[in-house]
Amino acid sequence: MDCLFCHIINKTLATEFVYEDDLVVAFNDIHPKAPIHQLIIPKKHIATINDLTNEDAQMIGRLYLTAKELAKQQGVADTGYRLVMNCNKHGGQEVYHLHLHFLAKRQMTWPPG
Ligand code: 5GP
Ligand code: ZN
Repeated sequence: MDCLFCHIINKTLATEFVYEDDLVVAFNDIHPKAPIHQLIIPKKHIATINDLTNEDAQMIGRLYLTAKELAKQQGVADTGYRLVMNCNKHGGQEVYHLHLHFLAKRQMTWPPG
């Protein structure tokens, strides 16, 4: 299976991790949409939110707890940030390995585009 984010996890595509534990890794987005734009992804390959099972509940929780830690470490917990997970075409998903976008250090707008 040729998955870009699996290559990043397996280090066949060199990318510096800003966070790593047993379930997830985080790294800077290559085309940042905010002054801070990081992707938090599971080490296990899961294509979309639609492919999640109850067994993935701990990992999903870890994605959000990692976001909380990244916010604290980078000093944006109080000013705020946005977490986004796109699903399939209408959701705007381009990479089919689950990922949580962490965006911060600018005012976000609503509704999203
Ligand atoms: P999606 O549109 O699937 O929700 O988000 C995919 C994200 O992956 C995009 O924000 C895109 O900039 C990012 N991305 C695509 N290719 C690479 C890459 O090779 N390295 C990194 N670090 N990010 C990537
Ligand atoms: Zn993958």
